[in-house]
Amino acid sequence: MTHPSRAKSKIAGGIPHMPFQEFTINSLDQLLAELKKAKIPNAQIEVSTSEDGRHYACSKPLVNVLVYTSHSLGEEQEYKDLLALYQYCPDCKNAARVL
Ligand SMILES: [Zn+2]
Repeated sequence: MTHPSRAKSKIAGGIPHMPFQEFTINSLDQLLAELKKAKIPNAQIEVSTSEDGRHYACSKPLVNVLVYTSHSLGEEQEYKDLLALYQYCPDCKNAARVL
């Protein structure tokens, strides 16, 4: 009897980009799809826009993409552990991992 071989490529966190890495991506959906595909253990993905976060290159508002794990601490209590933060400029199609 042989056991099925376990996946060896078990990267801690599994986030597909290095901190402060900048890259071009065609759409926010594509970035979200990449993050989901990375199968970061227990990770949740949240998208938010901020008023003051503007892209230095074109001064358009940036979209924040937060990747976090949340642990329930009982009723209505939640502990969020931020794993990564991305900022995306839909105008330049430029994304950067800022945390
Ligand atoms: Zn821009």
